Amino acid sequence: VLLAVGTELSEGVILNTHFRFLGSALQALGISVLKGVQVPDEAGLFEAELRMSLDQADLVIVTGGLGPTSDDLTREVAARAAGVSLEFRDELWRQLLERYAGGTLAAGIPASNRKQAYIPAGFDALANSRGTAPGFCGAVGKSLLVALPGPPAELEPMFLEQVVARLAPGAGQEGTGQEVLVGNVLLSPESVLEETLQRLRREDLQEGEVRWGTRVADDRIVLTLRGGSKQQQERMFRGLCEELGPLLVRRADERPVERLFEILRTRGLTVSFAESCTGGLLCKLITDLPGSSQVFRGGIVAYDNELKTRLLKVPKALLGRYGAVSREAAEAMSAGLLSATHSTLGVAVTCIAGPAGGTEEKPVGTVWISGRTASGLHLCIDFHLRGSRDMVRRRSAVAALLVAECLLTGADASGLRQLPG
Ligand code: ATP
Ligand code: MG
Repeated sequence: VLLAVGTELSEGVILNTHFRFLGSALQALGISVLKGVQVPDEAGLFEAELRMSLDQADLVIVTGGLGPTSDDLTREVAARAAGVSLEFRDELWRQLLERYAGGTLAAGIPASNRKQAYIPAGFDALANSRGTAPGFCGAVGKSLLVALPGPPAELEPMFLEQVVARLAPGAGQEGTGQEVLVGNVLLSPESVLEETLQRLRREDLQEGEVRWGTRVADDRIVLTLRGGSKQQQERMFRGLCEELGPLLVRRADERPVERLFEILRTRGLTVSFAESCTGGLLCKLITDLPGSSQVFRGGIVAYDNELKTRLLKVPKALLGRYGAVSREAAEAMSAGLLSATHSTLGVAVTCIAGPAGGTEEKPVGTVWISGRTASGLHLCIDFHLRGSRDMVRRRSAVAALLVAECLLTGADASGLRQLPG
């Protein structure tokens, strides 16, 4: 059970990011999350929920409420639920003093911080290298109770550095011990994925059913298969690859931009983007990755036709004749991009994102993508994407990453031409 404490969370004022972080980290350890609960800074509700959770699960992770102020209740509530008192720990107090003495507040540590040197008796302290609040963990009955500080920058390293080792392989795994297969599905509507999975399950005649869960992210659907046997999960996954195409269904939880980044990095290649409708989204996606300067040279957002001509040397007559969303325009954009940036790979995207601007011949969602290498390889593909303006733009960016990938790996790009749904 994940139990997030904080009135801002239960009221929805700030977004709870711990469930996503802890949920996926636990999944990777083979521990399934029974439920995630958000409670306000209110002792009665918090304690009732904690007691119930300790009855229901082998592992309860409480987040937040470890600070020095009076609304921080986790220490007291955890001690009560565990039936122990709070215990002052000299070593925690010394660490707090050192943290203050070493910092700018050498004048003295506020008395309220003394609270943070107390943890439930018999529990282990978890050192906080990024803040003042130590975490703690200990057994309550048959369950393990872990308390972590609220700020993500403190919680995440504490969990990875100190909690994971206590969880793997033992605690929390009894009763789940199940196989989990994680994959990614690109450019496919969730409804198509759902129908395909249902059909594949009906066709599988073995006992025991494979269940699935999906999480729709900005650039992909993360798919998790559980239940049934490992062979059944593999069969289902293979079936999905055959149905939707190997380019669009992938093993492991890897973002398309990460895949392209790895290919570029290992081969010592550089990329740049010429964007129209995506307005810089491709540049953002790649620069989100640390180390992107190794592979990314820059981009040109040429929204207006005049800039397509001035910056990317797309002939004005060509734009007049074929339109800005056309094979000819995309190819000219990628060629102009390569000569402007001298990257080894140039990718150009032009599309009709909608909601207006579509025609019979070029409906909203028409996208042309041209990838071109300095060595002379070239691939130009049109896509017909569905969805809102936002979805068309995000899917165009993913499609551009896939075209780039096909160009570099030599993968058969025909699978991209017939998108499912
Ligand atoms: P502090 O010593 O900073 O008070 P704390 O352990 O008491 O730490 P909280 O007071 O519950 O933690 O939360 C501190 C801050 O951490 C919140 O204001 C919020 O910005 C962030 N935070 C807490 N819980 C979450 C969460 N579940 N998801 C994202 N951010 C969170
Ligand atoms: Mg606090």
